[in-house]
Amino acid sequence: MQTPFSWEPFGSTRTTPAPAPRALPREPAQQLVVLTCMDARLEPLRMLGLKLGDAHVIRNAGAEATADALRSMAISHTAMGTRRAMVIGHTDCAAHASDDEVEAGVRASVARVRAKLPALTVEGAVYDVQAGVLRPVR
Ligand SMILES: [Zn+2]
Repeated sequence: MQTPFSWEPFGSTRTTPAPAPRALPREPAQQLVVLTCMDARLEPLRMLGLKLGDAHVIRNAGAEATADALRSMAISHTAMGTRRAMVIGHTDCAAHASDDEVEAGVRASVARVRAKLPALTVEGAVYDVQAGVLRPVR
């Protein structure tokens, strides 16, 4: 069994691994905003081959373009210059009944982002958690 997670937010001297966030610009280097699921098995930056500072990442159950996700994406676009968005669902998602439903959910979210933020280039994908592969959804 794993050691239980321990967090010491106050009085901790731990630092984050390099590069320190303060050394990075506030605007994402890849001008990218990603909407994906909160699933603990997903590492959004790693699965896209990105690093700290490259993209905004918005997460919720099922990678759904809810009003709040769209609000964050709008701020990402208008205040911090992102030009491209990706909606990434994944196989075996607890927020969807089946993998087919995941794909339909990605399509619906892509459509909602496009309708709300027409200046963004929006793409959809499904991450296969077994294979570790990202498949485009068209
Ligand atoms: Zn999920």
